Amino acid sequence: MSLSERYSRQELFEGIGKEGQQKLSSSTVLIVGCGALGSLQIETLARAGVGKLKIVDRDFVEASNLQRQVMYDEQDATLQLPKAIAAAERVKKINSSIEIEPFVTDLSYKNVETLAESVDLVLDATDNFETRYLINDTCVKHFKPWIYGAAVASQGLSMTIIPEKTPCLRCVFETAPPPGSSPTCDTSGVIFPIIAMVVALQTTEAIKLLLGRTDLLHQKLVQIDPWQTSFTKLNLAGLRERTDCRCCKQKRFDYLEPEQKQLSSTLCGRNSVQISPAEHTKLSLAELADRLKSIGEVSFNRFLLRFKTTNCEMTIFPDARTIIHNTKDENLARSLYARYVGV
Ligand SMILES: [Zn+2]
Repeated sequence: MSLSERYSRQELFEGIGKEGQQKLSSSTVLIVGCGALGSLQIETLARAGVGKLKIVDRDFVEASNLQRQVMYDEQDATLQLPKAIAAAERVKKINSSIEIEPFVTDLSYKNVETLAESVDLVLDATDNFETRYLINDTCVKHFKPWIYGAAVASQGLSMTIIPEKTPCLRCVFETAPPPGSSPTCDTSGVIFPIIAMVVALQTTEAIKLLLGRTDLLHQKLVQIDPWQTSFTKLNLAGLRERTDCRCCKQKRFDYLEPEQKQLSSTLCGRNSVQISPAEHTKLSLAELADRLKSIGEVSFNRFLLRFKTTNCEMTIFPDARTIIHNTKDENLARSLYARYVGV
């Protein structure tokens, strides 16, 4: 089968053409998050022929993802594969001519600047403000464009940030909403159409940026709700000039500062807490499984270990990052971590 016609319809589109296709082929994009938004961003850019995709995700595939996360199937959920790995495998079947590099990790101040170093732009597919501020700090510091996107229930938001030219995320949202104060996909649910709409906006902006057509960017905070059939564009012109933004004006990159804590814990959506060690470590999951098998149920592959007793359930990764399930109590989670993984 010849694949020479692969991009013919896209090249026919006057906004792209053969020359634009060449530019896409020589571009690199970092996608942070391989959940609902990330899955569809990956699929769109892989099919469009963006030459290299770097994808980052800390989580693994679960059955509740399958309704909207287009990269994954039932087998991925059964095998509990890390999302970045499962997505990379699928991309190889969709477009073997591009390069895909998966990273199974938590984006943090320790790795974000390295991951973003050689890319042309960053696409946000995360589900939390902390990671978005981390992306914002990195991109403003290194003058990289990035595209914010968020979706919950039937509502979505998107904004394109070009450092020094447009307002940054902290110009618009100076601080994150307090934990538990905003709806999430785990509390309010989400429908697939809003994911598709937000990703359509983000990836179209991404393609314009990769082609150098900054004149075509929408320069707005776009709010969409297909359930209410509403589409609102908030004009951001002049906002950057009016604010004394800590990030893009004062150049204080708070989120890139090392954390003082030995272990950081964060609530992660569906009634679970994530514990991350500050120092880089490497665990042998086989040895840990051996230690834990007399205490409870253990199953593991080379990417993660699941452990379950009558009072707790956790998923442990080779870098010692651990998700404690069925609790929102960070202290309890730290204590369970200390008991079963060790500090
Ligand atoms: Zn700013």
